[in-house]
Amino acid sequence: MNVLSLQWLSRSLGLSIAIGLMPAALAQTDNLSLTPAAGGGVVTAKVRAQAVDLRDQALAGSKAFDWVESLTTEVGPRLAGTAAEARARDWAVDTLTTLGFENVRVEPFTMDGWERGLERGAILQPFPQPLTLTALGGSVATKEAGLSAQVQVFESLTALKRAPEGSLTGKIAYVGHAMRATQTGSHYGYFGALRRVGASIAASKGALGLLIRSIGTDSHRMPHTGSMRYDDAQPKIPAAALSNPDADQIERIASRGQPIEIHMTLTPRFTGKVSSGNVIAEIVGTDYPEEIIMMGGHLDAWDLGTGAIDDGAGVAITLESARLIKASGLRPKRTIRLIFWGAEEVGLLGGYDYVRRYQASLTQHVAATESDFGAGKIWQITSRVSTEGKAVVDVIAELVEPLGVAPGATDVAAAGPDLTPMIAAGMPGFRFVQDGSDYFDLHHTADDTLDKIEPGNMDQNVAAYVVFAWIAANASVSDWGWQTP
Ligand SMILES: [Zn+2]
Repeated sequence: MNVLSLQWLSRSLGLSIAIGLMPAALAQTDNLSLTPAAGGGVVTAKVRAQAVDLRDQALAGSKAFDWVESLTTEVGPRLAGTAAEARARDWAVDTLTTLGFENVRVEPFTMDGWERGLERGAILQPFPQPLTLTALGGSVATKEAGLSAQVQVFESLTALKRAPEGSLTGKIAYVGHAMRATQTGSHYGYFGALRRVGASIAASKGALGLLIRSIGTDSHRMPHTGSMRYDDAQPKIPAAALSNPDADQIERIASRGQPIEIHMTLTPRFTGKVSSGNVIAEIVGTDYPEEIIMMGGHLDAWDLGTGAIDDGAGVAITLESARLIKASGLRPKRTIRLIFWGAEEVGLLGGYDYVRRYQASLTQHVAATESDFGAGKIWQITSRVSTEGKAVVDVIAELVEPLGVAPGATDVAAAGPDLTPMIAAGMPGFRFVQDGSDYFDLHHTADDTLDKIEPGNMDQNVAAYVVFAWIAANASVSDWGWQTP
C-alpha cells in the first residue's frame, strides 16, 4: 500500500464514521455535506477501500504485459475465422481455466472466411520501381497475371465521388486522404470511409482496381490493411492500400504531369463458411449473480502483425483486471463477465452474435465496456447513464483521478466496437478513453508487435478497469440507464 492509498483509506474510513453517526434520514437527504466524493452513497466505504487496494496492486506491477506477451508469442497473428484464431480461443480457455475462472466457455458462430494471398505492386511507367502494398480485408483477387493499367489520381474520396460516370473505364483509381493523428483517433471514422467503401465507388465509375493511401498516420513503409465492403450493385474490383511513403511517391509522380501505369497482383481467397467464437469467463456474483458487469477485448487480429496493440492489449488489460479481483479472494455482488470477442475486425461479428444469443437477457448487462484502442494510458472517461448510474461513474472517476484520468462527456453512447450492437439495443455507455496519438501509426500493419507496448501503461489501464469492475459490481443501483424502446 502506498501513500496514495493510505490517504484514500483514511478518507473512506472518515466517511463511514460520519455516516454511522448521522441519523439515517439526514444521511439520505444531506448527501452533499457527507461527501468528499460525489455519489458516496452508492458504494460502501469498504467497497471503496477494496477498489483502492486493487487499483494500487495494479499500479505496483500487474501481469497484463505477461498476458499480451504470451498471446502474441504463442499464438501470433490470428485472423478471424482461421485456425490461428481458433488457437487464440484455445489459449484463452486454457489461461482462464488455469486461473480458476468460472463458466469458462466458447460461444461459436460461423462466418464467411477470407485469407490473404500474394501481394505485389510496381510502377511500370514513367519511373519503373516496386511498390509496397497490401490487400484490403475482403478484397477480391486480381487475375493470376495481375492487373496492369493506367492510374487516375484523386486527392480524396470526395474527389473520387465527383468523377464523372465512365471516366475511370479501364483504369486503376488511386485515392489519397489527409488523415491526421489525434489523441482520440477522431479522424479514423471520417477518413476511414475511403477504405470501407472506396472500391465500389471507383467501380461505379468504371475502375478496374482501387489503390488507396493507407488509413494510417505513420511515415514508414508499412501498408495498413482493414476491412472493406462491396456494394452488390457494382462490379467487385481488387482493392489495396499503399504505405504512406509509396502513396507520396505516386502523388509526386502525378504532380509531374506524366501518365502513370501500375501493376498489382493480389491473390486473396474466400474460404467459405468457417468458425469463429467469443470466449467467456466469469466471477459469479454473491447477491445478484444474474446481473452482469462485462469487460473484454477482441481476440482476433489482422494477419500482418501479431495484434499486440489491436487488440492483444485489450484482452490482457481486462483479463488481468479480473484476475486481480479473483486473486484477492473477494467476491463481487454482481457477476463479473470477461469476454474476448471473435471476428471483430471483419465486421463486429462476435458482437452481433452475442446480442442474438442473449436477446432475452440483454438488460441484465447493467454495465459493459471494452478495451480496444491500443496500450496507451487512459486519460478520460465518457459515459451515458441514468442519474443513479452517474453516481457510480462519479465514484469510479474519483478513484481513477490519481491515474491522470479526467471525467469527460456524459452524453456519449459508446462502450467499444464490439458493444456497438448492445448500445444500439439501448445499453448505457461507459468508456475509458486511451491516448491514441500514435495508435494509427501501427494499426493493422506488420508493425503491430509486442515491442511497441510499454508495460507501465498497461498497469495504469488495469488499475482503471479493476476500479470499474469492482465498483460497478458492488454499487447500490437499480436503474443504470438502459433505454428500451
Ligand atoms: Zn481493435
